[in-house]
Amino acid sequence: MPARTAQPTPPLIAEYRDWLVCHDCGVAQKVVPVARDLQLVCCNCGHPLYFGRGSWLDKTTAMAVSALVLFIAAHVFDFFTLVLGNSSQTITILAGAGSLIEREEWLLASLVLVTTFILPILEIAALLYLLLPYRFNKRLPGQIHVMRWLERLQHWIMHDVFLLGVLVTTVKLGDSATVVPGPGLPLFFLLVAALQAGYWFMDKRNIWSWLYPNNCFSQSDEDVLYDCDVCKAMVGESIIRHHGYCPRCGARIYTRIPQSLQKTTALILAAIILYIPANLYSIMLYEELGTNYDSTILAGVIDLAAAGLWMVALVVFVASIVVPIAKLLMLIFLVWSVKVRMEGMYTVRTTMYRVTKFIGRWSMVDVYVVTLLTSVVQFGLVGHVEPGPALLPFAAVVVLTMLAAETFDPRFIWDNAPPDAAAGHMRGRTLAQLNSMNNSD
Ligand SMILES: [Zn+2]
Ligand SMILES: [Zn+2]
Repeated sequence: MPARTAQPTPPLIAEYRDWLVCHDCGVAQKVVPVARDLQLVCCNCGHPLYFGRGSWLDKTTAMAVSALVLFIAAHVFDFFTLVLGNSSQTITILAGAGSLIEREEWLLASLVLVTTFILPILEIAALLYLLLPYRFNKRLPGQIHVMRWLERLQHWIMHDVFLLGVLVTTVKLGDSATVVPGPGLPLFFLLVAALQAGYWFMDKRNIWSWLYPNNCFSQSDEDVLYDCDVCKAMVGESIIRHHGYCPRCGARIYTRIPQSLQKTTALILAAIILYIPANLYSIMLYEELGTNYDSTILAGVIDLAAAGLWMVALVVFVASIVVPIAKLLMLIFLVWSVKVRMEGMYTVRTTMYRVTKFIGRWSMVDVYVVTLLTSVVQFGLVGHVEPGPALLPFAAVVVLTMLAAETFDPRFIWDNAPPDAAAGHMRGRTLAQLNSMNNSD
């Protein structure tokens, strides 16, 4: 019935529901209690929805406090010492970024500093700002924003990748000098483990419920519910259309990411273009005993294998060559499959999307290795190393492919699933449908 005058906006219905909408396929499902160490996965696409974590609060707090102590200690103590004949050189964690700043490589220096220093310390601060008040049930200002940023920045905190870079660097250097590990190295290893475990143990659903108990927002029973990717609230279509933000955490929320395919395609194309100079030019220039060498990514891998360092050669080969190519191919396939409205392989394609999101960051290893080597050999102990012209385009490829995976909306994959497919009848569930299902349970 068409209205003559503009209708007032219906009031917001905010309530708590024991339901979740899967972000990867859009299927709504009931959250059942999960025993410790078990996980609840999406009944349709297998996406992990919720983990049973037992006594998570003590573990997460202990990990966050340890991480703070370890972070300070790891930066105070030496990372490793290089010994060659009578001379020696001591390296700290920040040396890599420091040498990039000295060379005025601002972009690379900020990328290294942000991903390995600034984001990890912010993560520790964020965990403590949430967990300590939670223990005493004290709400502090801005906690919802802190929690939102903590969830969003996870992929960009790369101290674990940096650690792998450190290990590769020490093995590489071990070929030409003696590497004596300092206390900073095991401390940093423990820091990475503590932070990973702290975030892993944290019961995010519980924290969100504490910060904002209501998790279901709609304006009518007929509103189709969508998920907020950050706080996992269920938000009605009309709210998304009018406001565009999650009423609970304030994150942008979409029924489908706007121009998702165009954005992903543009980012893939930019990454492919930059991938050419990243592989053709040298990633590292070095001078040893008066002779200048340069090394592309592939030549670096071959050199490592020739020196008998098979494991490191394999790690660098997988991280720098296999992962970027595999990721680009998978993203191209996903975009193409949605464009041609491919039928079938829904779960396989959703898994592929999750893999592209997970593996991308590990390609940063080579960037960290080169920056570390640059700082290590500053004193001419084992020659002289400079970052090559390929380093910046290579780092850009890593960042662009990570953004490409973030702009792809996996729910497009399921949009062509026939209604009789496993999820067909469950997609686009309204509050009224949830109620009738609850009653029939
Ligand atoms: Zn799912
Ligand atoms: Zn939210």
